[in-house]
Amino acid sequence: MADDTPLGPGLRVLERGWLSSNNIVLDDGDAVTLIDSGHCVHADQTVALLRRCLGPRRLRQLINTHLHSDHCGGNAALQREFGCPVLVPSGSWRAVNEWDEQALSYAPLRQRIERYDAQGVVRAGELLAIGRRQWQVLSAPGHDPESVMLFDAVHGVLISADALWENGFGVIFPELEGDAAFHEVESVLDLIESLPVRWVIPGHGAPFGDVAGALHRARVRLAGFRADPARHLRHGAKVMLKYHLMEEQRQPLDALRTWLAEMPLLAAIWQGLGRPESSLAAWNEHVLRDMLDAGTLVLRDGVVHDH
Ligand SMILES: [Zn+2]
Repeated sequence: MADDTPLGPGLRVLERGWLSSNNIVLDDGDAVTLIDSGHCVHADQTVALLRRCLGPRRLRQLINTHLHSDHCGGNAALQREFGCPVLVPSGSWRAVNEWDEQALSYAPLRQRIERYDAQGVVRAGELLAIGRRQWQVLSAPGHDPESVMLFDAVHGVLISADALWENGFGVIFPELEGDAAFHEVESVLDLIESLPVRWVIPGHGAPFGDVAGALHRARVRLAGFRADPARHLRHGAKVMLKYHLMEEQRQPLDALRTWLAEMPLLAAIWQGLGRPESSLAAWNEHVLRDMLDAGTLVLRDGVVHDH
């Protein structure tokens, strides 16, 4: 990108679909630093996109804002291809090194991931010098307890991950397991509001400049969830199911029912809702039916399709 773009010099956003997070390519001297790597089912595409951006330059490092499978699913492929070090939020260091799939959420969410490792950390409070720009590392709990955001105060650019999107924010995962986190989402929105942010590069969707509007919409959404936490739980269940179908593209109904029955987080959500319907299986069926009725998923000849 030219130096006169709103996002400032030496920064390129590879906007991806919803299953793969955006990848942000930062000029870093004669090399490149990459922020986030998308989902593993798109890893080949991520490698190809990055290779085109790199040209003769090398990939100096890959930094993850957080370790959800749609933000670090390309880590293993990129490490293989480019031999670059991976830096993860400091709070996730132990879980990555021990490959604790429970703590990393891949097990409870039953999501696909290719194992990767980390060579270093980014820590809230530190200032990262990347090329000619400096990025403050900010803690952004709520959506994910260990998530960080990156903020370049000179250019007013915030890499927000899933803490703020143009319309809302990512599911508040701790809440799905019964841990209070609405207040953390609010604190992060307050933090963003307190900073001179002119442009946000979200984890999903295009960069946007109406920061006040996005903050307002996020606050309205948060207030709605707070007033009716069951709505957030039901929303969380649907997001998990949609994500699974985005990963699989299609799945026979029986296999999907088995997946639903064995998905630990859905059982936790069902518990959190006070065990509605006669059983977990009946409630799962209800959630699926709602999504088919809404057209979010499609059933054809006994096979459920993403769309
Ligand atoms: Zn996330």
